[in-house]
Amino acid sequence: MNRKIISHPWSRRQFIHNLSLNAGMAALAMNGMHVFASCNDNNPAGEQNKTSAMSKGSKKKLGIALVGLGGYAGGQLAPALQQTEHCYLAGIVTGTPSKIDTWKSKYNLPDKNIYSYENFDSIKDNPDIDIVYVVLPNSMHAEYVIRAAKAGKHVICEKPMAITVEDCDKMIAACKEAGKMLSIGYRLHFEPYNLEMARLGQKKVYGNIKKMNAGFGFTIGNPAQWRLKKDLAGGGPLMDLGIYCIQGFCYTTGMEPIAVRAQEGKKTDMEKFREVEQSLSWQFEFPGGIVAEGKTSYADSMNNLRAEADKGWFEVDPAYNYSGQRGATSDGAMDFKHVNQQAKQMDDFADAVMNNRPTPVPGEMGRRDVKYLQAIYKAMRTGERVEIK
Ligand code: NAD
Repeated sequence: MNRKIISHPWSRRQFIHNLSLNAGMAALAMNGMHVFASCNDNNPAGEQNKTSAMSKGSKKKLGIALVGLGGYAGGQLAPALQQTEHCYLAGIVTGTPSKIDTWKSKYNLPDKNIYSYENFDSIKDNPDIDIVYVVLPNSMHAEYVIRAAKAGKHVICEKPMAITVEDCDKMIAACKEAGKMLSIGYRLHFEPYNLEMARLGQKKVYGNIKKMNAGFGFTIGNPAQWRLKKDLAGGGPLMDLGIYCIQGFCYTTGMEPIAVRAQEGKKTDMEKFREVEQSLSWQFEFPGGIVAEGKTSYADSMNNLRAEADKGWFEVDPAYNYSGQRGATSDGAMDFKHVNQQAKQMDDFADAVMNNRPTPVPGEMGRRDVKYLQAIYKAMRTGERVEIK
């Protein structure tokens, strides 16, 4: 079969944000929604807004301190910070003193930029640190985001933003009170194949979407890890992986779900899944009759995002990895350059801070998604159709 290669060079990826930290919020942005505003053929896919990070800022690069030096911080974020243009790894906050020497020498960090969880609040006196990036287990996000804001720092918080909407409200309020920006580590908003899903869906290139499917799962290892503890993770694979499918549905449709039904999958490993679900399926209803079926699991492999519309289909599979996305439409394969998603994400936030513009992935979006996570769990527990307000 002759597969046409479709390349969609993008313009500056301009999101329309109704949210402005300084000017208040319009209704859409209250829910964290954004759409892609303009697309033309001048720049390659995934190219970020080229607004000069220097145009208003006085610093060349903003300093980021990572809080929590686990797998994601050490394996992805710190290496990505070696590739960023507008920010750099300036400090660390850790509860494990044995990690300090390795990080210090690997990333050339001065002693004065190394903090423990206990003395973290004194980071307020450190002008090297502009942004604190919270990379701790989910239920700890709220405390550290609030402490960072109180210390006068801008904040990036990993997904899911928190384990309750109430915590999200407190985090947003703390940042607002401190006059600091809050962003969520939604790296796929900077990934060309996922951006293409959003463009095709929101621009209705294949007409109105009728149906969507998404699944994200893998087999989890160590039964003692925090991801399987309800108090630290807030839930199971839905909190960790299903959230990517929720995001995918929202940025592809450009809409918000209005109701959900959900079913817990059978537990086959009671040692691992004593406290949280092993797998879960849910069905979102979106306006216009769109049905979006999500699946997540800590015992099966899946990694896809697909939309079926009036005049064709489009999908990415694998969709959520750090690299190696592959995509296709009913007209043929997608072909975009792969990027370092985390470097793009952190650079975009640094640029947003320096130029006092909104981030495309604000705290309000994180809060919106925690609301959906809670609605899915309620639907799962009750067996009822749960309306989402
Ligand atoms: P991890 O287990 O590898 O690291 C967790 C870190 O938190 C460790 O440094 C650990 O020492 C520290 N910690 C502090 N108190 C702890 C406690 N009570 N229990 C366990 N650890 C504690 O986890 P991770 O994979 O780095 O995930 C951290 C956060 O990053 C999570 O919120 C996760 O959802 C998020 N994450 C995001 C992505 C992404 O692609 N955006 C990828 C992986 C993880």
